Amino acid sequence: MTDQPSGSRYLHVRHALTARPRVWLVTGAAGFIGSNLVEELLSLGQTVVGLDDFSTGKESNLGEALGRAGASSGSFRFIEGDIRNLASCHAACAGVDYVLHHAALASVPESIADPLTNSQVNVEGFLNVLVAARDARVSRVVYASSSAVYGDTITIPQVESVVGELLSPYAASKAANELYATTFERAYGLATVGLRYFNVFGKRQDPNGAYAAVIPRWIANLLGDVPCEIFGDGNTTRDFLYVADVVQANILSATADAARARGVFNVACGQETSLNELFQLIRQSLARLHPGARSATPRHAEARLGDIRRSVANIAKARDQLEFVPAYRPESGLNEALQWYVARAMPTGVHAAVER
Ligand code: NAD
Repeated sequence: MTDQPSGSRYLHVRHALTARPRVWLVTGAAGFIGSNLVEELLSLGQTVVGLDDFSTGKESNLGEALGRAGASSGSFRFIEGDIRNLASCHAACAGVDYVLHHAALASVPESIADPLTNSQVNVEGFLNVLVAARDARVSRVVYASSSAVYGDTITIPQVESVVGELLSPYAASKAANELYATTFERAYGLATVGLRYFNVFGKRQDPNGAYAAVIPRWIANLLGDVPCEIFGDGNTTRDFLYVADVVQANILSATADAARARGVFNVACGQETSLNELFQLIRQSLARLHPGARSATPRHAEARLGDIRRSVANIAKARDQLEFVPAYRPESGLNEALQWYVARAMPTGVHAAVER
């Protein structure tokens, strides 16, 4: 953590959890965000159950999360299973206090290519998790929604109460999650919180694959001296949030008073960054570790159909109700994330210098 105010609720909750550990289920535990959740919960001495089918997640993510959590960490049990299987969800939820649901197919283009599989995992799988959590009487389910539910809204900054027309089956699956979660609250009294993540980045985000997120893709390109591509004029904006703050939002949501932790919350930095600015930031930070990046220039390609022009969140609701205060700006998050990517890409000598 960087600049968390010492009186912040997050610091208080971390101490309270360390003093009285709980049992957490992280679905999607082998993925980017899931493995960061596992790492932090274990380092707080919690008991963690992980569920994943390794469809996009990796064993190496889990191995690294467990390794970084340290020897004095809490305990971890892993279930290799599919959330489309209700029995696996029941097994995973047994004895759990809090569910942090992150298993999903997260690619928008893949959802457009194969809406049926996307719905089977993201909607039916989600329902299985809700049913199993209800049956196990867990205290609360916190689940990953997405800024994709804002669709084509032109309200800036984006606020929870105003959504536009949805632009992909992925967005529809996340909107369906929100509908089912609130319905389960009313029908069965299951406590749920939906977190609408904006553009999350950080260690263990995969730089490979056709649909890799922009930050790891550009870092990998710059490290490999391959040109970076900006779609359109580069004035497209996004709200980039460092993964440690996503972890914070999950822990605050799980532990907040029931009256405050209800419905959906934007989880973002609340800062608008254009792709041109992002490129400069990455190049500048990376040049200190990899001088070859200093002279890199991006290549502009045709704007992509369906890409929204501006995206930035109003985070007042999360701040007021959950006391969520991002500890990182994109610059400070990038500096931390870059250490991780560079350490993995460089030969051992440079590696040691970077990690010092
Ligand atoms: P990820 O692909 O790294 O992680 C998803 C994990 O879910 C993977 O480990 C995968 O193996 C697992 N999984 C997929 N299908 C499964 C199934 N049927 N059964 C069990 N496990 C399954 O993606 P991520 O970026 O870590 O995203 C986590 C969540 O956050 C997703 O719900 C995603 O939609 C949401 N989200 C992410 C971002 C972002 O910027 N990364 C933004 C908005 C929302």
